[in-house]
Amino acid sequence: MKTQRLAIIGSGPAGFTAAIYAARDRLDPIIFTGIESGGQLMYTSAVENFPGFPEGILGPKLMANLRAQAERFGADIQDSHITAVDLSTRPFKLWTKLPKDTSPEIFKLGSAEEIQKIISQTKQLEPDLLAESLIISTGATAITLRVPGEEKLMGRGISTCAVCDAPFYKDKQVFVVGGGDSAMEDSLALTKFASQITIIHRRSEFSASKIMVERVLSNKKIKVLWNTTLAEIIGQEAIEKIIVNENGERKEYPAQGLFYAIGHRPVTDLFQGQLELDKGYIVTARTITKSGLNLATNLLNDKEMITYPSRTSVEGVFAAGDVVDIRYRQAITAAGQGCEAALDAERWLENL
Ligand SMILES: Cc1cc2nc3c(=O)[nH]c(=O)nc-3n(C[C@H](O)[C@H](O)[C@H](O)COP(=O)(O)OP(=O)(O)OC[C@H]3O[C@@H](n4cnc5c(N)ncnc54)[C@H](O)[C@@H]3O)c2cc1C
Repeated sequence: MKTQRLAIIGSGPAGFTAAIYAARDRLDPIIFTGIESGGQLMYTSAVENFPGFPEGILGPKLMANLRAQAERFGADIQDSHITAVDLSTRPFKLWTKLPKDTSPEIFKLGSAEEIQKIISQTKQLEPDLLAESLIISTGATAITLRVPGEEKLMGRGISTCAVCDAPFYKDKQVFVVGGGDSAMEDSLALTKFASQITIIHRRSEFSASKIMVERVLSNKKIKVLWNTTLAEIIGQEAIEKIIVNENGERKEYPAQGLFYAIGHRPVTDLFQGQLELDKGYIVTARTITKSGLNLATNLLNDKEMITYPSRTSVEGVFAAGDVVDIRYRQAITAAGQGCEAALDAERWLENL
C-alpha cells in the first residue's frame, strides 16, 4: 500500500487552503472531501466578509474556486469520507470503507454511540491508505433544534452565524435562540442592524456571564421570552413567522429572521481517545484554553518557541479550522489556519 506524505481530511476553507499550499510545496497531498464536500459555506448564499471579493461571493462559488485552485496545483481530491483513523503509530492508517450495508450518512445522522460502533467495526477491515502526516479540518456543525420548517428555511431567514449574517437583517424583526454568552453576543451584534431582537430562552434566567446579561437586559431593542421553546418555523420562500411554547402556551410571532446561538459541535468522532480534545475541539499548541496552554508549554523548543503551532497532541498530526476553533469560526480564520497547518506539516516532514 502506498504511503502518502500528507493526507488532509475535510474540504472546507481550511482543508482546501491546506491543499493549495501543500500542493504548491510539492507534498503531493491527498484531500478527502467528506460527505459534505465544500463544507459549511455550501449552505449559504452571499459571503460578504471573505477578503478579495468587494461585491461578495456566493458560498458554493467560493468553495468551487478553492477546489479548482487546489486541483490546479495537483492536489489529489477524493470525494470520499474518512471512516476511521489509527493515529497510534506512524505511518497513520486511514479507512474510507465501511462495514457492509452501512452508509456514510451514519456520520451525520447517527448517535455518538452508533458512530463509535461503526468506527470500531471499520478498524477490523484493512486500511485504505497510509500517511506520514495528517491535517485534520473536519469543521464544526452549529447545533440547531431540528424543529419543523427548519430544514426548508435554513439560509432563508434562519442563520447560525450572526457575525456573518447580521448585516442582512437591517430594520428587521429577528429572534435569537439561546441563553449563553453566544446568544448575548449575537443579540448585541444584531442591535446594530435589526429593529427588534427577541431572545427565546427555555429557562427563567440566562447562563451567560453577568456583564453580558446586564448589557442585553439594558438594551431597549432586545426583548426576552423566558421559559419559552421554539416549536415551529413557518414560511414559503423565507421565514414569515414562528410558533413558540411560551410558559406552556402556544403562541405565534411574525419573524423575518431567526438565529440559533446554542453552540457548535466539532466533528471529532473519529479522533475520540486518540487526540486530546477540549469541549470536543481538537487541542493544538494554539488552543486558547488551559489544555492548549499546557500543550504549548510542553512543546516549547530550546529557543523557547513552538516549532509547529498547529500541532495536535500527536506528532505529525496537525489541525485547522472550525474543528480547533473555540472562538472565531469564520471562513477566513479557517483558511488562515489551513495555510499554517500546511506550512507546519511541510516543515515537520522536512525535519523528519
Ligand atoms: C449558513 C452558514 C453561513 C456562514 N456564513 C459565513 C460567512 O458569511 N462568512 C464567514 O466567514 N463564515 C461563514 N460561516 C462560517 C464558515 O462557513 C466556517 O467558519 C468555515 O466553513 C469553517 O471551515 P472549515 O474548513 O474549518 O470547516 P467546514 O467548512 O465545516 O468543512 C468541514 C469539512 O470536513 C469534511 N469532513 C468532516 N468529516 C469528514 C471525514 N470523516 N472525512 C472527510 N471529510 C470530512 C466535511 O465534508 C467538510 O467538507 C457560515 C457558516 C454557515 C453554517
